[in-house]
Amino acid sequence: MSILKNLITFPALITFISAHLVACAAEPEGLQLEVYTAQFSGIGENSFTLLGENEAIQIDSPWLLGDGEVLAERLKNNGRELTHILLTHGHPDHYMGLAPIVEAFPNVQVLARQPVIDEISTQFQSKWVHWEPMYGSQLPTTPVIPGLLVGDNIFLEENEIQFMDLQPAETMNATVFYIPALEALITGDLVFAQMHPYFADLNNPASWKGALESVQVFSPVSTVYPGHGPFGGPEVLTEAMNYMDVYQEVAQPGVPLREFAPIMAERFPNYAPMFLWWTRGPGFGIVGPGPLGVPESITSTLPPHLLQGQAPQ
Ligand SMILES: [Zn+2]
Repeated sequence: MSILKNLITFPALITFISAHLVACAAEPEGLQLEVYTAQFSGIGENSFTLLGENEAIQIDSPWLLGDGEVLAERLKNNGRELTHILLTHGHPDHYMGLAPIVEAFPNVQVLARQPVIDEISTQFQSKWVHWEPMYGSQLPTTPVIPGLLVGDNIFLEENEIQFMDLQPAETMNATVFYIPALEALITGDLVFAQMHPYFADLNNPASWKGALESVQVFSPVSTVYPGHGPFGGPEVLTEAMNYMDVYQEVAQPGVPLREFAPIMAERFPNYAPMFLWWTRGPGFGIVGPGPLGVPESITSTLPPHLLQGQAPQ
């Protein structure tokens, strides 16, 4: 547990993340949606539990095994049988913490769309190599490979969960989930609320905005649940679309990070900055912001363990 202790003692980290379980405001009888925001990774990834009368469905897992253990314990305490874990996309912060949950519920089916299964299968090793120096034994050494999620809906008891695949946004492949009875849209990393999103994979704000527009097919939506950041009303989607417009205008191809990142930080002064400095990294992961010319006034707001990356050679 020492790595967890180290990670959670960084003051900037503590201000950035919060660990909580929040019940949805509008809940029909017998159906609840709970959010688990990671405590230990430093990036506050959200995962979601849909609770029926006797059964539950989980959407995404946390990144680190410590958070997976905490969530597994809470799922046990909820007293429902976990039937499925559905994944929104193949980034490690949304599936690497699966193992403790699967151990707690040996009959659970972990499911994802085929391209997401392929990404997890082919990219696990490189992600592990990249992140192991930071997270050590908090990462699993082998992935839980999902089974195939087919069709366009699945049921928790009598409650329908609809889903739809996205055009390229944060990742090449991703799925969003909509629960009509709750008017709830679970976006995964299609939405980063109150923080700069992670562009390092595709860096394509136009396609990302198109994906945001496409989920408006789900209606009505009272609550939008993002992959990172607080949930909110439909305005969360609108704000994400606006961000894409601004990013497209400011971070045009060829404009270096050191020029556009301070402008984005100024345009969105209340957004958590972390992912802004990871954007346009060498494929994925951390680029040391100092060597890239990010001003000290900004780097001083970042958790120290995020400053150890090296500039690309
Ligand atoms: Zn994420």
